[in-house]
Amino acid sequence: MSRRVIARIHLGALRRNLARIRELAPASRVMAVVKADGYGHGLERVAMALSDADAFGVASIADGERLRALGLAHRVVVLSGIDEAGDLTRMHALGMEPVIHHDSQLDLMRSEWGAPTDDGPSDLRNVWIKIDTGMHRLGFPRARLPQLLAEMRSLPGIGDIQVMTHFANSDVWDDASTGLQMDRFTLACGNSTPPSGVHTFTTSLANSAAITGFPDSHGDWVRAGGLLYGIAVIDGRCGADFGFEPAMTLSARLIAINDIAAGESVGYGGAWRAQRPTRVGVLAVGYADGYPRGIGPDTPVSMGGTEVAIIGRVSMDLTAVDLTGLETVAVGDTAVLWGADGIPVERIARAAGTIGYELVCGMTRRVDFEEDDR
Ligand SMILES: *Cc1c(COP(=O)(O)O)cnc(C)c1O
Repeated sequence: MSRRVIARIHLGALRRNLARIRELAPASRVMAVVKADGYGHGLERVAMALSDADAFGVASIADGERLRALGLAHRVVVLSGIDEAGDLTRMHALGMEPVIHHDSQLDLMRSEWGAPTDDGPSDLRNVWIKIDTGMHRLGFPRARLPQLLAEMRSLPGIGDIQVMTHFANSDVWDDASTGLQMDRFTLACGNSTPPSGVHTFTTSLANSAAITGFPDSHGDWVRAGGLLYGIAVIDGRCGADFGFEPAMTLSARLIAINDIAAGESVGYGGAWRAQRPTRVGVLAVGYADGYPRGIGPDTPVSMGGTEVAIIGRVSMDLTAVDLTGLETVAVGDTAVLWGADGIPVERIARAAGTIGYELVCGMTRRVDFEEDDR
């Protein structure tokens, strides 16, 4: 079979990345965020590799069900919470924990969890309350936290309560807004602590960027996504700069090598024209695999450890590279598009005007996934 684009997932890298997060946030528990099919790496293989995590964060109940089907007994937090009647009951039956961020969800809680329960102590219902400290996407106004805590505590069978918020700009370290969000969060939580000083909830603020950039924000729980996969979103940096390893290597086959004369163009639209006689390699990968079409000029791929430039436009199935002077490369060789021993996905993302998360989440169904212990 000739045409194979392979996303190879490195389970050892996932495990070491989790350990590295624990090093950076030694006093915090770690929620491993595995939404979007484990950031495109494959939920099941990622969750099994990260079984040392203290909890998993997912976007939907269906993802949580996939974790339970693996036999994983971890805490599972559904980050966008509940949408409709029955969700809470379904979640509770599977031991999943909702993030409550909106009044419509409070109404569902009152109607589904308001009645006295005959559940035993092991069936306590853990909840996460999300407050808005400046992101203005999801979350209750922070001034309502005392009322929300009182209401939650008045429901029967409630177990641990976690209070969380989400940062808008933690990837920009000199931006004052993260400090402001932290201050607002601390103030809201301080105002909500009973006079006895007993902490009756735990806190969670930090995403990946805040884990590396804002140690004061770590709180009781860090919520790590990107860094687990080795990807940083800090401008100009990549995960390796912080001691993380890529968990995905994307590769494709070289299926043709052709020599063209100076003045000839390559690909659709004649967007690239040879300044000199050029040896053109053609890789069997394109935007239909998830490689971004919108890259800038001279974006590299790695061939046998050498970086060569993409020339012309990335098309649906094919991408041309400049192999001039690279005599050792032959048809059938493998090009590494990003990942271990290749180019950091963050660099390709910058060339495409996006972030690494979008690229790894964008692998399409015709990409073959493999895994190793690397
Ligand atoms: C996705 C998500 C995270 C993880 O963000 P990363 O930047 O990938 O670490 C954390 N918290 C919430 C609420 C999220 O939705």
